[in-house]
Amino acid sequence: MQQLEQHFINGKFITAQGNEYYDLFNPASAQVIGRVRLANEADAIAAIAAAKAAFVGWSQTSVAERLDVLGRIRDAMASYQDELLESIIVEYGAPVSRANWMAHYPVDVIEQVMRDVQQFAFTTSVGKAQVHMTALGVAGLITPWNSNAGFICGNLATALAAGCTAVIKPSEMSALQTQVVMKALDAAGLPPGICNIVTGRGDVVGEVISRHPDVAKISFTGSTLTGKAILRNAAESFKRVTLELGGKSPTIILDDADLATAVPLALEAGFMNSGQACIAGTRILVPRSRKTECEVALQAAVRQIQSGDPIDPRTTIGPMVSDKQWQRVQGYIRIGVEEGAKLLAGGEGRPENSGQGWFVKPTLFTDVSNQMRIAREEIFGPVLSIITYENDDDAVAIANDTEYGLSALVLGGDADRAQAVGARIHAGRVQINTLTHEGGAPFGGFKQSGIGREVGRWGIAAFMEPKTIVS
Ligand code: NAD
Repeated sequence: MQQLEQHFINGKFITAQGNEYYDLFNPASAQVIGRVRLANEADAIAAIAAAKAAFVGWSQTSVAERLDVLGRIRDAMASYQDELLESIIVEYGAPVSRANWMAHYPVDVIEQVMRDVQQFAFTTSVGKAQVHMTALGVAGLITPWNSNAGFICGNLATALAAGCTAVIKPSEMSALQTQVVMKALDAAGLPPGICNIVTGRGDVVGEVISRHPDVAKISFTGSTLTGKAILRNAAESFKRVTLELGGKSPTIILDDADLATAVPLALEAGFMNSGQACIAGTRILVPRSRKTECEVALQAAVRQIQSGDPIDPRTTIGPMVSDKQWQRVQGYIRIGVEEGAKLLAGGEGRPENSGQGWFVKPTLFTDVSNQMRIAREEIFGPVLSIITYENDDDAVAIANDTEYGLSALVLGGDADRAQAVGARIHAGRVQINTLTHEGGAPFGGFKQSGIGREVGRWGIAAFMEPKTIVS
């Protein structure tokens, strides 16, 4: 059992001033596997002060110096990949195939930022003016548990590329994974204070970061509810804010779709990251003319999906991250039944022989109306809803009838028609007949899925302010 006492402030491991301990669990066994001593307000303030002091020098560095530091972080993350993989499986419960991807993603995302910063236009001429993109200052990066190291490294690399320094508050549920990241950052030998990590409660450390006047920018990934609280708290000091929030993404199966290819893509989109993905395609829109055919194909495919031990290579859905998350998923399955939706696969309870971990059954509902709670609220678990539409206009109207707008998937035989349908969907990312990830394209949401964009030049610019100099 690991006991984590330290946080990473000003380039050193520092024992937390906070004295509250928080239990860490293995979701596959529901057993405590460690505990972390949480940072408190004073730790957060110390981290902000270190980042503020470091900003003076870091903001003046050249692109070459930033690339050198980013390269060192990338190499250090690569050398800790095996340890990260182990902690992702044991603390988060990601199935092996997903966990492998997650353990390598920090390297990929840092490399992407390194490419982006080399292309970035730091200075542009506009008539007689020179427009200089200027780093904002200390960035507060607040991240969730569903891809801990990836979110930390992506946001950190982007902030540093822009010339900002960072205070990172990861989820308190991911302290083992964060410990690996901190070891890698220490091994990278960074200028002290450019990145600081304090694991603490959202309503303690997160609140300090989102209110503190010395923090110029917040980049937050998490729930829409918390995003609203952060926006309110940040308003007092006019912080620049990027919010990456929740979703209720549609997958539209058009009436000319080949179900042999569409169904696997629809389920991959819906069940990715064990359903604990902000971009999960949880509303599957099918044409009334092919409703039965779609139901039969989706039902048969869901019944083949293995939910259980994350170590088993056949598993595609691991346990939910916590008891709270497990209860939430069970609650929504119950709500779906009470609302009159029809269960085609899964349902309440654990899969057979899965043990006492927070395992759930991959669940598929049909006869879902887009007004039901299971179609409107983010469940964050492997629960999918089939919703019937009449024609393409109706499909677009249903897809857009949501508070969210993070992503969408359109599946159809005629690529031009699928593109045309996709163009009418209000979402930050629309994929047509593919789930391919384009690492350099902006990522973020319309409506209550967020504010602003991460990744690429859009992501770097979000940590900067344009300054016009006329001479
Ligand atoms: P959450 O909002 O509960 O927590 C996210 C982070 O915010 C955690 O570090 C938490 O400690 C912190 N926090 C909580 N209250 C806070 C406060 N008052 N002030 C400042 N910080 C606070 O979300 P979660 O349960 O950890 O993650 C799941 C949610 O994240 C889902 O809704 C999901 O859709 C969303 N998410 C979005 C994206 C995206 O890119 N759009 C990616 C992953 C997850």
